[in-house]
Amino acid sequence: MAYDDGNIFAKILRGEIPCRKVYEDEHALAFHDINPQAPVHVLVIPKGPYVSMADFTENAPDDLVLGFFRAVGTVARELELVEPGYRILANHGVHSHQEVPHLHIHIFGGKQLGPMLVKDRAKG
Ligand code: AMP
Repeated sequence: MAYDDGNIFAKILRGEIPCRKVYEDEHALAFHDINPQAPVHVLVIPKGPYVSMADFTENAPDDLVLGFFRAVGTVARELELVEPGYRILANHGVHSHQEVPHLHIHIFGGKQLGPMLVKDRAKG
């Protein structure tokens, strides 16, 4: 899938639409999800045109991959989620219901999050 420069996170990166920023460095930007699914719900995105985890890990330069994943850890620490814990999640493609075609890692926290997936959906 080709990268679409018009996606909403590309616009946020270009400063064309606002976000509630929590962290930024040369590799990554983190901001609050507009429709939070937990008391803390932050998205971390790489500064580069990558659709998904598959695209990013195949095509991004090493320093960006390293810097992006370090940023995810830094954001969780700065949000004081390391204790008592948090969840990270990245949706890829149709089966995962990825809505925005720019790689983003969700960070959820701030409450007991329960099981990872709804159990009765496991069999499809
Ligand atoms: P996904 O289903 O993994 O692609 O998740 C996309 C996420 O982006 C959803 O949780 C949306 O609530 C969130 N989202 C969409 N537009 C914005 C926006 N302008 N600012 C912050 N979060 C957004």
